[in-house]
This record gives sequence, structure tokens and C-alpha cells, in this order.
Amino acid sequence: MQRVAFIAAMQRLTRQWQRAGKRIGLVPTMGCLHAGHLSLVKRARRAVGKNGVVVVSIYVNPTQFGPKEDFSKYPRDLKRDLKLCRGAGVDLVFTPSDAEMYPGTVGSRRCEAADKPRFDKRGYGTYVVEEKLSRIMEGASRPDHFRGVTTVVAKLFHLVLPDVAVFGAKDWQQAAIIRRMVADLNFPVRILVAPTLRERDGLAMSSRNKYLTGGLRAQATVLWCSIQIARATVKKSKTFPAAGLKTAVKKLVECEPDARLDYVEFFDPDTLLPVSKVKRGTHLALAVFIGKTRLIDNARL
Ligand code: AMP
Repeated sequence: MQRVAFIAAMQRLTRQWQRAGKRIGLVPTMGCLHAGHLSLVKRARRAVGKNGVVVVSIYVNPTQFGPKEDFSKYPRDLKRDLKLCRGAGVDLVFTPSDAEMYPGTVGSRRCEAADKPRFDKRGYGTYVVEEKLSRIMEGASRPDHFRGVTTVVAKLFHLVLPDVAVFGAKDWQQAAIIRRMVADLNFPVRILVAPTLRERDGLAMSSRNKYLTGGLRAQATVLWCSIQIARATVKKSKTFPAAGLKTAVKKLVECEPDARLDYVEFFDPDTLLPVSKVKRGTHLALAVFIGKTRLIDNARL
């Protein structure tokens, strides 16, 4: 397994692979890998075959974090990540620095090497903005989050030139926005969305679960319980007013002493448009603070 940190080296390899006719699969991550990430690697391998190349990018992208969010304390463990990737049969791990990805962001806490002469001192200035699906749910709670996501994913697509890229259903809205961007900007890449992997008690695997110390971990199952209750309601009543189900979820979350509902939404899984009547096939997404940790989950009902 190779590890590449520089953009020029990544692009050189990409060109070589393309000339050799190899299929390329990309799994973008922010590291601190868990079984959910590794399931995406497996999916990518299945898509490109044993002669193809599977690339995992590990990059905690500063532009998708808000000023009050957990960018600086986001869990990082590269040594462990590399070991997991090797074990999962990854061919190359791409680990660019902030200075490589956003050159010249002088004065930014995010750019460690901006004083090196090879960086453009005028500063990074180009962003990719999806305008239809990015304003609701996660986008409403985290302004500029998706601008950071689409920008970094567009950059990774240019650098790795993947034939397929795999994203998790855990971030349903993100996957929908990436699909939209790929269609709108004509990226020649197929987007695959792999199912959410969960712990035994239903909690969706997430790097942020590391923050759930003490009694917080047990309270975090309230997201999965909310999904289960919504599912049971829909099974029983065929259709149900979204407003009533939102109130029920809010009440359930409030039963946990350290939990606070950020949002819950019922929507069409393809268009992400909110629905007023919930029925089979409707999608539920919610974000809940457990202490200071913000968790998200979603599911088809
Ligand atoms: P992250 O490192 O959190 O940015 O996630 C990288 C990719 O892994 C994204 O496409 C996520 O949707 C996906 N992912 C995160 N958690 C899970 C999970 N529990 N199951 C499946 N995919 C996941």
C-alpha cells in the first residue's frame, strides 16, 4: 500500500493508472476509520475489480467546519488508519495537508505551511456551491458546511480521477448533493451509496462516537429509537402527519437528560423535499446533540 501526501505525486500516479487502463475507485474520508468506512472500501473494490485501484483519502477538511465546530479536536489517528487500510486491501492512501489543499490561506489557523514560498500568497479563493439541496436540514444548521464538502470532493475528483466514488448512506443529504454536483458539473464518475453500518444497539458508526464518554453513549441510542418509532407508526397507520411524528420524536429525545434535538425532517429520498404526510418509503433524518456532540442519522421508513 502506498501513501501519498503531495498533489503533484497523486496526479502523476493517476495519469499512470489511466494510461495503464486501470479502473480507479475513491473513498473520501476524514479518517479515524471504523467498520463503516471499511465497508465503503469493500464496495469500491467490488466496483473496480482486483486489477483496479482503490484510493482512500484521509483529510479533515477545514472548510466544511463552522467556526464554533470541532475542527481542531476532530479525532485523528493516522497510524491506526493506515493499518486498517492495509488490512482492507487499499492500494493508496492520499493524505494531503491543508497547505496542499488550500494554498496561501495566510493567517488562517488551518494552513500550517503557508509561509513556504511555493504557495500562492494571494490565498485560496475558489469554492463549489450546490444551491438546490444544500440549504435544508444539515445546510440550515451548518451554514457553509456543504460548500466545504462539494469543494473538497470536487478537488479530490480532479486529483484522483476516479471511475467510481463511494459515499455512505449515513450522510444521505451529502450523497444527494454530491450526485447533484456530479450531474451538474459533468464529472465522469459514478457515485455509489453504501448502507449505514451500525453498532449492535443501533447507533450509527461514526468517528464522533469517540466523544461519547460515560453515560452519554447510552443516551445516543435515542436516534435509532426515533427511527424505530417512526417506522412502527408508519407500519401501523399507512400514512401519518409529519408534524405529529416530529412532536413524538422531539418528546422522545427530550427524555434523555443530555440530549437536545437540532432538527428532525421527513422528506422524499430523491428530491429531499419535505413531506407533510409520512408513508412507507418516506425518509427520516435527524440531528441530535448528546452533550456537546452532534450526531446525525437517517433511514427509509
Ligand atoms: P467521514 O469520515 O465521517 O467524513 O465519512 C466518510 C464516508 O464514510 C462518508 O461517505 C460517510 O457517509 C461514510 N460513513 C460514515 N459513517 C458510516 C457508517 N456508519 N456506515 C457507512 N458509511 C459511513
